[in-house]
Amino acid sequence: MAEVTLKGVAKIYEGGVQAVHDVNLTIHDKEFMVLVGPSGSGKSTVLRMVAGLESISEGDISIDGQVVNHQPPKKRDIAMVFQDYALYPHMNVFDNMAFGLKVQKYPMAEIRRRVDEAAAILELTHLLERKPKALSGGQRQRVAVGRAIVRKPKVFLFDEPLSNLDAKLRTQMRTEIKKIHARLGATIIYVTHDQVEAMTMGDRITVMDHGKVQQIDTPINLYQRPVNRFVAGFLGSPPMNFIPCRTVDEGGAIYLDEGTAKIRVPQKWAGPLRAAGRIGQEVILGIRPENIGDKLYVQPKYPDSVMTATVDVVEPMGSEVYCLLKSDKNNIQARFGGMSRVQPNQEIDIVFDLDAIHFFHPETGAAIV
Ligand code: ADP
Repeated sequence: MAEVTLKGVAKIYEGGVQAVHDVNLTIHDKEFMVLVGPSGSGKSTVLRMVAGLESISEGDISIDGQVVNHQPPKKRDIAMVFQDYALYPHMNVFDNMAFGLKVQKYPMAEIRRRVDEAAAILELTHLLERKPKALSGGQRQRVAVGRAIVRKPKVFLFDEPLSNLDAKLRTQMRTEIKKIHARLGATIIYVTHDQVEAMTMGDRITVMDHGKVQQIDTPINLYQRPVNRFVAGFLGSPPMNFIPCRTVDEGGAIYLDEGTAKIRVPQKWAGPLRAAGRIGQEVILGIRPENIGDKLYVQPKYPDSVMTATVDVVEPMGSEVYCLLKSDKNNIQARFGGMSRVQPNQEIDIVFDLDAIHFFHPETGAAIV
C-alpha cells in the first residue's frame, strides 16, 4: 500500500515567489501519475515537496494516511530518479546499484539478492561488471532506475528522467519504464513537460499551469473533455485549433460566423451555449487537426459544416499529411490522410467533424459543456 495525498498544498519560496497554489491530489496505490505542464508551472516543486527536499508552505502531504510534512526525506521511504542521474564513474554497475544499501549497512547477501533482482527486471544482468562509461545512454538510465528499485521504496518519484536522451531512446525508455511499473506494481509520480510522455505513460495525468492544477484525469478524458483552453491546447500535436467566432441564432438554429464561413452548430449545443450566455456573442471554437477533413475524401456528417480555405503549408509525414490552411480570418491546422495530394496555394473545401468540437469562453478560457 502506498497512497500519496496532497491537501491544499502551496509553496511560497523565500523572496515571495508563489510557485504552487492549493494543490489537492491523491495518487492511488500502484498508480502511475504524471505531472505535466510547461516549464515553471510548479511540477518539480510539487515533487520535491513530496520527497521532502522542499518545505511545505501550506497544506499537508500524507503517505498512506500519515502526514509527512516534517519528516526528513530518508524517513519517507521514497526513491527519486532525476534527469541528471550521475552514476559513480569509478564503480561498476553492481556497485552503483548497491551503494545506497551498503551505506545503510544491509547484509551483503541481501544486497546481492536485491541487485540481482533489479538487474533482471531491467535486463542489466550481463552488464553488472561494467563501468558507466562503457554503457549506452539508455543503459545508464536503467542503472539509475535500478538504484531506486533496490531500495524497495513505497513511492518512486521521477523528475524529467528522459530529457537528456535522444528522441529514439526516449521512446524506448518510455516503454521500458511502463513495463517496469507493471512488473513492480509501484506507485509512481512522474514529472515531465512533454505531453507525449504524459499521454503515453500516465494512468492519470495532472495538468499544471502557473502553479495551479488545471485538470486531473485519464489521458483520454483529458484529450476528449478538457476543462479549459489551456488543457485543450497543451495536449495534442499539432495542437487544437482555436477559432474565434460569433454565434448567431437564426430561428432557433445556431450558426457560427467565423468571418468568412458560416457553420451550423449541432442542436445539442444550443442549450449549453445559451446557458453560458454566448448566443449572439463571441465564442472560441476548438477543433483538433484530425477532426478536419478534405471534402474530396470525407463526407460531411452535418449540413453547413464545410468551409473553403487556402492551403498555405503542406508537411507530409508519411502516414498522414499536416496541412496549414488559411481562411480570410484564421490559420487552421489540419491532419489529412497520407494519400492527400494537396498543394500550397490550392483552394480546398474542408469538412468540420461537428461531433468533435469544443467551445471555450473567450475571456475565461473555461470550456462550455
Ligand atoms: P517546473 O518544474 O514546472 O518547471 P518549478 O517547480 O521548477 O517548475 O518552478 C516553479 C516556479 O518556482 C518557477 O517560477 C521557478 O522560477 C520558481 N522557483 C523554483 N525554485 C525556486 C527557488 N529555489 N527559489 C525561488 N523560486 C523558485
